[in-house]
Amino acid sequence: MDRTIVGARFDAGAQYIDGALRPGTSGETFEVTSPADGSLVQRVDLASDDDVDAAVAAAKRAFPEWSGATPGARSEALTKLAAILTERADDFARVESAQSGKPIKLTTEFDVPGTIDNTSFFAGAARNLEGKAAGEWSGLHTSSIRREAIGVVGSIAPWNYPLQMAAWKILPAIAAGNTIVLKPAELTPLTSLMFAQAATDAGIPDGVVNVITGKGRSAGERLIGHADVSMVSFTGSTGVGKRVGEVAMQTVKRTHLELGGKAPFVVFDDADLEAAVHGAVAASLINTGQDCTAATRAYVQRALFDDFVAGVAELFEAVRLGDPFNPQTDLGPLVSLRQRDSVAGFVDRARGYGANIVAGGFTPEKGHDGTDLTLGAYYRPTLITGVAQDAEVVQQEIFGPVLVVLPFDSDEEGLRLANDTPYGLAASAWTRDTYRALRATREIQAGCVWVNDHIPIISEMPHGGYKASGYGKDMSQYSLDEYTQVKHVMQDITALARKDWHRTIFGDR
Ligand code: NAD
Repeated sequence: MDRTIVGARFDAGAQYIDGALRPGTSGETFEVTSPADGSLVQRVDLASDDDVDAAVAAAKRAFPEWSGATPGARSEALTKLAAILTERADDFARVESAQSGKPIKLTTEFDVPGTIDNTSFFAGAARNLEGKAAGEWSGLHTSSIRREAIGVVGSIAPWNYPLQMAAWKILPAIAAGNTIVLKPAELTPLTSLMFAQAATDAGIPDGVVNVITGKGRSAGERLIGHADVSMVSFTGSTGVGKRVGEVAMQTVKRTHLELGGKAPFVVFDDADLEAAVHGAVAASLINTGQDCTAATRAYVQRALFDDFVAGVAELFEAVRLGDPFNPQTDLGPLVSLRQRDSVAGFVDRARGYGANIVAGGFTPEKGHDGTDLTLGAYYRPTLITGVAQDAEVVQQEIFGPVLVVLPFDSDEEGLRLANDTPYGLAASAWTRDTYRALRATREIQAGCVWVNDHIPIISEMPHGGYKASGYGKDMSQYSLDEYTQVKHVMQDITALARKDWHRTIFGDR
């Protein structure tokens, strides 16, 4: 790994508190390594309880001024932030690829431009908070709604899209006038720190955006349990989300939980097969399958089943694994050896109970570019058939480049199977029949249902789960609702000392 990608950027430390990078005070460090070859990218100090407290204190101090700033002023700062991110786009893409192993074409074409677009969106959205019209609803008062910032937000993010997850947490929170302390995942903290630095450079006041780099159980729980944190926003696995909910509830904080997914991909027998095959390959392998909305379970109506499986297998075999910095590389490693071993474990167990591994199912040795893949967390795209609906690979989130395909007969059965997991984050339906499409969008229980596509997201539309995939929305105007609280202001317009309703107390006296 070329250390100059990260360079001296973090020499001042890797906690971002009160407008500057600072060393951690725990005395413990953590290595951010490249999952492509295990090389050191950056050594980071782990946050201590004192660091968490200092970050929360900074956010608390910054809150009155920032929440009192006009939406126009907040919007202007976010517009500047978008411009700075655009100037530094290459830098962000390279560090993101270094710490996560994502192919450079993905970070350059997806992660970084998506983040810049989110930032521009929230610059506009900051000026567009909505509410009910003020009016004399009782006839005796003027009632109005104030939509107010909540306070210090404590956010916890996962490693799969480190920069985008930081942006999805930070942007709506600060656009609405809150201040924030973000804890990125231990494996991938670097671009979140760079994002906080860019916010300061854009003129966002010190203490509005803070990033602490620490472990979930220690720094994470310290943050979400902190008495001065008013809201907790979490993205990560359903298991950890339950624990986060428990801890946050001890101090009755508002919670926003974006959790795991197991997205179905339902192909009806009138679908454009070529489109469905290409869609399934791209949607199951994006980010090496480490995407909460990735297509993981394809249900294919019986008439198309064999051709679909053959088409996907052929394209899976052609996918190029290699050095993430090679622009030709389609798929990088998984984020860590641990994650790779977890994915391999699911596939090996499926093999054990008689599944048919149609493609992949192993750790490759050489990349398309001659890279020695045995040093990294690589795994070949894997296609599985011959399993039952209750199989582990159908029910549980694998979070790797693995697609399971099952047949169905009637439309009812396909839709029923699509809904038959605890998750409900995203789904897609593939058909040329508008009635089938409408039925699928109505009946599938998920926060997003695509028709004849699977994966695209846009800043203007909400992203969030149904069922065990959590609640609350990221992106869009809906996320501003999440990060604000509504106050009803009711003002008497009669100027009467004795109101009519006082009869309940004073009777006829
Ligand atoms: P994870 O749940 O293991 O960790 C997420 C974050 O929680 C990390 O920062 C971790 O340090 C922290 N954490 C762990 N234990 C904690 C605790 N006790 N208290 C507070 N914080 C704690 O998830 P991951 O492995 O980093 O990411 C993958 C998961 O994220 C998948 O399940 C994926 O589906 C989910 N995800 C969901 C969305 C969504 O929008 N719904 C988006 C991206 C990822």
